[in-house]
Amino acid sequence: MDFSFTPDEERFREELKAFLAGQLPEDWDFRDFVGEVGKDERAELARVVNGGLADRRWLALPWAEEYGGLAAGQLQQAIFNEESTYARMPGGGGQGVAWVGPAIQQFGSQEQQALWLPRIARGEDTWSTLYTEPGAGSDLASIQTRAERQGDEYVVNGTKIFAAGAQDANMGWLAARTDPSAPKHRGISTFVLPMDAPGVTVRPLEDMAGQGNLNEVSLENVRIPARNLVGAENRGWYQVAETLNLERSGIGPMAAGKRNLERLVAAARDEASMISRNPTARYELADRWIEMQVGYNVAYRVPLLQQDGLTPNHEASVSKLYGSELTQRIAQTGMRLLGPAGQLDAGSAYAKMGGAFSRLYLEATAATITAGTSEVQRNLIAQKGLGLPRG
Ligand SMILES: Cc1cc2nc3c(=O)[nH]c(=O)nc-3n(C[C@H](O)[C@H](O)[C@H](O)COP(=O)(O)OP(=O)(O)OC[C@H]3O[C@@H](n4cnc5c(N)ncnc54)[C@H](O)[C@@H]3O)c2cc1C
Repeated sequence: MDFSFTPDEERFREELKAFLAGQLPEDWDFRDFVGEVGKDERAELARVVNGGLADRRWLALPWAEEYGGLAAGQLQQAIFNEESTYARMPGGGGQGVAWVGPAIQQFGSQEQQALWLPRIARGEDTWSTLYTEPGAGSDLASIQTRAERQGDEYVVNGTKIFAAGAQDANMGWLAARTDPSAPKHRGISTFVLPMDAPGVTVRPLEDMAGQGNLNEVSLENVRIPARNLVGAENRGWYQVAETLNLERSGIGPMAAGKRNLERLVAAARDEASMISRNPTARYELADRWIEMQVGYNVAYRVPLLQQDGLTPNHEASVSKLYGSELTQRIAQTGMRLLGPAGQLDAGSAYAKMGGAFSRLYLEATAATITAGTSEVQRNLIAQKGLGLPRG
């Protein structure tokens, strides 16, 4: 693998860093960690940042110019993801840019592409993914939400859970069963669902990190125009599987991990007792530093494959598994080094590092569940990467 970047890619990285430095307050690193505090300020900043990104066509870099992108390479997109995550940039293209748009490009009609892609690239729509159900998570092909064709419409009934961002989304990316009599993988279709359609109810789910981002979405006799079916009817499972590979790959965990580790190392240099009271602390930090660098190489493998016209598969699972477990190890290292006061939340005057690691520790728990659990990733790697039989 060639890990050098072209002069154009390096130039883009510098331009992006300058843009981010101009947009984000100097002390942004700390304020980004305080949960509810500063929520409105974050939302306003995200709006301004997204405006600047959309003006530069940076929200959906690899998309064709007619759809609002710059037809950039996947490596340039990965550089964008790396630097924006490292800078803890609020905003960005979200699920619309990361996997809904690419799915519409790959499977949607020309009309659908012309309708939805430019809106995503301008940051006008916010998307939420509606796959998981109370009885179908890892075994996603078992979904029961029914979409029944009636004339020019589909009538949808069912319940989705863990829909991240549905509380703010105006568009849903929905998987539903269109043929209940077919084998389970062959009776699923994908739809674009306007979230304000009558019969859509979004209820918040509480999680232990208090992120307020997960929801249950119930669908009661929701009518979706048949033209919102994306791809062929009953071929949705294959589209979902490909889209999940996009959701699983990403440099984000490594870039965020690097930032967190840098802060932890700086704190350990300032407070000598963090090292002196814990004889293995230096080794532990060194191990995390090595793992983070390995993670960069693992993550960049995916856009390198895409740039060569290949479709990443088990490579995306390797990246997801490694990144999510690394995030948890970094959080655990932080909690061990900071001691009991490291567990205090940002609200406490005695909190260490503004409560950064207590929050990261809680949030990191979900990293090995979202977009497919670690067990599911290991199964995929064993089966598709190593050619082993199904378990
Ligand atoms: C923070 C977060 C965000 C999410 N965002 C979204 C979203 O936006 N949209 C969406 O649709 N869903 C979303 N999800 C749902 C997520 O994809 C599922 O939670 C996940 O796929 C696991 O499904 P489950 O919760 O039903 O667990 P289950 O599938 O019930 O799994 C329970 C346990 O059994 C293990 N297990 C299951 N099957 C196997 C097997 N074959 N081999 C070995 N072990 C197995 C699992 O690894 C897990 O430990 C999100 C979840 C989280 C936590």
